[in-house]
Amino acid sequence: MICHEEEAAAARLLTCDVAVEELLPQLVGLPIERMDASPVMSRTTALTRNDVSQPCPGCGQVSGWTHPRYVRHVADEAVGGRPVVIDPSVQRLYCENPACPRATFVEQVDGLTERHQRRTPAPRRLVEAVAGALAGSAGARLPAVLHQTLSWATVLNCPMRIALPDRPPPVVAGIDEFALLKRHRYATIIIDADSGQRVDVLPDRRAATVTAWLREHPGVRVVCRDGSGAFA
Ligand SMILES: [Zn+2]
Repeated sequence: MICHEEEAAAARLLTCDVAVEELLPQLVGLPIERMDASPVMSRTTALTRNDVSQPCPGCGQVSGWTHPRYVRHVADEAVGGRPVVIDPSVQRLYCENPACPRATFVEQVDGLTERHQRRTPAPRRLVEAVAGALAGSAGARLPAVLHQTLSWATVLNCPMRIALPDRPPPVVAGIDEFALLKRHRYATIIIDADSGQRVDVLPDRRAATVTAWLREHPGVRVVCRDGSGAFA
């Protein structure tokens, strides 16, 4: 008969049989130094390889000339209702190209870190989706429920960082103005009149701005415009 302690020991062994990488695939290939889980947060400390070589984001030349490490702190998706923070120790590298304006750059780990991001790609995509749908203070409240804390200002800035899809210039362009601040500040939206897809947004509604855009897109053959005098 198995006593209570043996059952508990077997349960502990079963728990250990689950590889951490199966639960957190973003940590594959990274030696984990420490995992802590308190009632309010889970924190993992990991280390990247020493023999790293990566392309410089400034010039594309691959460098393996390493600088001292430093520890980043990135928020990951919540696990078990707790916020998760991963602290990867990453390598800073020197760019070996004397013509490159960047002296150093930081290695990035696929699926875990991104340049200028304090989140892993998974919660970053979630925050961007919420920011795109809700924006402002409403967009700041929903991520808090999902253990992703961010201010309304960050939520407003999020859509500005989302890469725009590459859309070919339309043959038939629809041009219209819209208010950024009613009666004070207006901008111009350009759509593909055939598909209804947004093509570009111009920062104001001045004729010179719209004309400059049309000159840069000679493929436009027909323009459907708003009746405003500025667009005439
Ligand atoms: Zn470079």
